[in-house]
Amino acid sequence: MSITVRGAAKINLHLGVGRVREDGFHPLDTVYQAIGIHDDLTVATADALSLLTHVADHIDPASVPDGDDNIVLRAARLLAARTGAPATGAFVVRKDIPVAGGMAGGSADAAAALVAHDRLHDLHTPDDVLLALAAELGSDIPFSLVGGTARGVGRGELVTPVEDRGAWWWVAVPSTVGLSTPVVYRHFDVLHPDAPEVPASAEPLLAALASGEPVRLARALHNDLQEPAIDLRPELGDLIVRGEAEGALRGMVSGSGPTVVFLCESAEGARETALGLAGSGEEVVLTATGPVAGAHVLTPV
Ligand code: ATP
Repeated sequence: MSITVRGAAKINLHLGVGRVREDGFHPLDTVYQAIGIHDDLTVATADALSLLTHVADHIDPASVPDGDDNIVLRAARLLAARTGAPATGAFVVRKDIPVAGGMAGGSADAAAALVAHDRLHDLHTPDDVLLALAAELGSDIPFSLVGGTARGVGRGELVTPVEDRGAWWWVAVPSTVGLSTPVVYRHFDVLHPDAPEVPASAEPLLAALASGEPVRLARALHNDLQEPAIDLRPELGDLIVRGEAEGALRGMVSGSGPTVVFLCESAEGARETALGLAGSGEEVVLTATGPVAGAHVLTPV
């Protein structure tokens, strides 16, 4: 038997970051959206646990760890340990989501691995258990299960779907060199030692989403990690200026970066912005709509 599960990239439409806590984590108020850039994960019945990764041309194969360091195998092992299911399955991942780009590609794979391993072994794990295991593996992974558009609080792992009346057009420009999430958070702490304990509220962004109006959403986009990311990589600021000059309504660093996303007015607007950025030398320019589904089975079981 083999099963294919699709996982989606995420962007943060709002990322409010509060002052770092004693335990080292930052309280977040964030709004995630799953967008149409995907990794597909197939798992087949096997006697042992194994993993093969194929990457799209724009991804450096060396950037994706193999073996036990890959989050796919960690997810399968965790589900097996907690349910008593066998830790077996031959996994193959086809990656299109930029790596270490702030688009949660690893989280998409982990969510897909939980769903695929559950189906392969016919476990019928309840949703709340899958969500708890996802949160143990990483703060973005519960959202990768849920997909669509959702608010995340706590460390971002407590997710609730929100009203979203738009079909939004995005252009994403990943960087060939990743930007480590912990480094960006540490730089946020340096720049903002007196950040408020309570992160900036996502409420204004939620109102814009419910309106379905791109111009209103563009105005409401907010990312507290953009300033530290641009301070570490000033070229990201230049890229935002260029994309907006090419017609995007608004450019923004995605999560902790270095991927930059641009909200566009329409399909035509996204095409023009993407063409303009490609013409000005950007090697990889991806166009996607959102929201899309979270981790879901593509093949019939
Ligand atoms: P986030 O937005 O959640 O911070 P990200 O997009 O910045 O995530 P990922 O692509 O998820 O980053 O990868 C972060 C690191 O995780 C990579 O540098 C890589 O070493 C490791 N990793 C482990 N498994 C995977 C996987 N299946 N795909 C990509 N990276 C993985």
